Amino acid sequence: MFEDESVDVACPQCGQRNSLLVRALEEQAEIHFVCVKCGAGVKLEANEFRARLDAVRAELHDLEREAARGPAAKSRRPRKDDFNI
Ligand SMILES: [Zn+2]
Repeated sequence: MFEDESVDVACPQCGQRNSLLVRALEEQAEIHFVCVKCGAGVKLEANEFRARLDAVRAELHDLEREAARGPAAKSRRPRKDDFNI
């Protein structure tokens, strides 16, 4: 599931990407983590993050739709010839 995925959050101090569990972000209002590179304490507002997460999900949805247009999914779809558009 998507909730078991991690996301990369860039450190505001050094730009290092830190992996955070999406599930943790959904369960808490505020997430604190320590940058693995510079050790800075970073506070992340979950509400703010969720908005971005929604954008990521919308992007994923687009990717899935794009993938559905690929050869693997074609057999599941009616043939183009069946349609009169
Ligand atoms: Zn950092």
